[in-house]
Amino acid sequence: MTGDISARLVASLAGEMRLAEPLAPHTSLKVGGPADFFAVPADQADLQSLMAIILETGTPYLVVGGGYNLLVRDGGFRGVVVSLEQLNEMELLPDCRLRAGAGVTNRELLRFVGEHGLAGLEFLSGIPGTVGGALTMNAGAHGRSVLELTESVTTLKAGAVTVTAKERLRFGYRRLELGPGEIVLAAVFALGAGDAGEIERKIEGYLEHRRNSQRVGFPNAGSFFKNPEGKQAWRLIDEAGLRGCRIGSAQVSEVHTNFLVNRGGAKAADFLELAQLIKEKVRLQCGIELEEEVRIVGVD
Ligand SMILES: Cc1cc2nc3c(=O)[nH]c(=O)nc-3n(C[C@H](O)[C@H](O)[C@H](O)COP(=O)(O)OP(=O)(O)OC[C@H]3O[C@@H](n4cnc5c(N)ncnc54)[C@H](O)[C@@H]3O)c2cc1C
Repeated sequence: MTGDISARLVASLAGEMRLAEPLAPHTSLKVGGPADFFAVPADQADLQSLMAIILETGTPYLVVGGGYNLLVRDGGFRGVVVSLEQLNEMELLPDCRLRAGAGVTNRELLRFVGEHGLAGLEFLSGIPGTVGGALTMNAGAHGRSVLELTESVTTLKAGAVTVTAKERLRFGYRRLELGPGEIVLAAVFALGAGDAGEIERKIEGYLEHRRNSQRVGFPNAGSFFKNPEGKQAWRLIDEAGLRGCRIGSAQVSEVHTNFLVNRGGAKAADFLELAQLIKEKVRLQCGIELEEEVRIVGVD
């Protein structure tokens, strides 16, 4: 990247711009090299002015939320990593609807719905991350997923703000179809009227369930692989004899075999090698091709 482009990127942003920012601390797996630029736009207008320069100069970019579903390779990311943490506004709308920005954390969202007696999103309790990440991944649990409860999703597509009604969104298990480089800005959720106390009890109940079933004790990114149709990835990995299997400091959790954990000082390469081994062994054992749920980004 030329000095001229670098200077224009830095000058385009009112928010924060960090250079050579290590990405490991921005992910729950705690691996990965640096980003050339790490931008935190101050608001949507600031994001749009940054994106105008990024698109004009053809600079590669990657939007991140909380980094709870992200494996960054050891060489990091050549280009601009954009955090939407400042797009964190929530607004209560009529008829039990709620607008939330991409940077709102799931925890803040749950606090808000609890306080306002809005029912439906309780299943998000214990799923870490942001609204942007939850929408992009169609995060879910207990048979429910977040896009089911949206009325519309607002995105930034080739520099233009677009609002798409739920009926026109294409989504499925842990996926939302977005155009190349499309950025999720916000969503309107259509929820139900509920009793605040009951909603909070449900949120706490789901959290307690996770504390018991997912106490893996080391940095992880939740389920590493998607569940194949009608199967559970953890069971396939277990049946392939991989519980506790370790490469370098990356390990198949002893507690939950679809969680890969960082036992301390792991490299992204350790996780990639371990993931490859798991896929091969599961394929040999039962002929099923596992697919990563975790998004793998960056360069070696
Ligand atoms: C302990 C643990 C338990 C978990 N349990 C669950 C679970 O039960 N169910 C579940 O579904 N997930 C679960 N996860 C995975 C993770 O919490 C979800 O995928 C979550 O939605 C990720 O949100 P995030 O903000 O961290 O996204 P990130 O990890 O930062 O990003 C995920 C992907 O979305 C893209 N992205 C993020 N924000 C935007 C945006 N605004 N616009 C465009 N693209 C964007 C990123 O580029 C990346 O490709 C778990 C993770 C952990 C660590």
